Amino acid sequence: MDNNGYKKMYKKIYSLLGDTTPLKADCGLLCSQRCCSGSQNIGMLLFPGEETSLEVRENNGRRLALCSGKCDRAGRPLSCMIFPFFPAVDERGKISVVPDYRGVALCPLITNSEVIAFNGRFFKKLLKAGKLLAKDSGCREFMKEITGEINEAKELYSRLEG
Ligand code: SF4
Ligand code: SF4
Repeated sequence: MDNNGYKKMYKKIYSLLGDTTPLKADCGLLCSQRCCSGSQNIGMLLFPGEETSLEVRENNGRRLALCSGKCDRAGRPLSCMIFPFFPAVDERGKISVVPDYRGVALCPLITNSEVIAFNGRFFKKLLKAGKLLAKDSGCREFMKEITGEINEAKELYSRLEG
């Protein structure tokens, strides 16, 4: 996909997700906004072709958007909009929304998922966004890679907890 194609796709995805979040209430109240207490050394992964007004650093072929715990909320990266969930792609190419275990040490929504009343609309929208993203081969490959990392993190967590 060319830059223009990516621009259009992300515009559609941002507007689809809008301000919908995993909880109807502000989950930042549960944890003092832990996922936004980053530093210039911790970044949020950008999806392929995603643009940002934040400073960007390249790391092992991936691009990280750097913030110091503050941003223009309307312009936050997709990774921030969907955290702590991810549209996973399995070996057969099926997409499903899964908890992002890479953030298990940070986010209480992952470890307390059984007792939390989630906002169903968020998951429907994220699944739809995942299907839109997966139409692009670059995004689909990226989602597969991240799905592998999430599965590894989940396995490690289960071993440590078990
Ligand atoms: S760490 Fe989890 S619970 Fe806390 S603000 Fe981020 S998404 Fe919400
Ligand atoms: S870019 Fe914004 S939403 Fe994302 S971690 Fe930084 S402050 Fe939080």
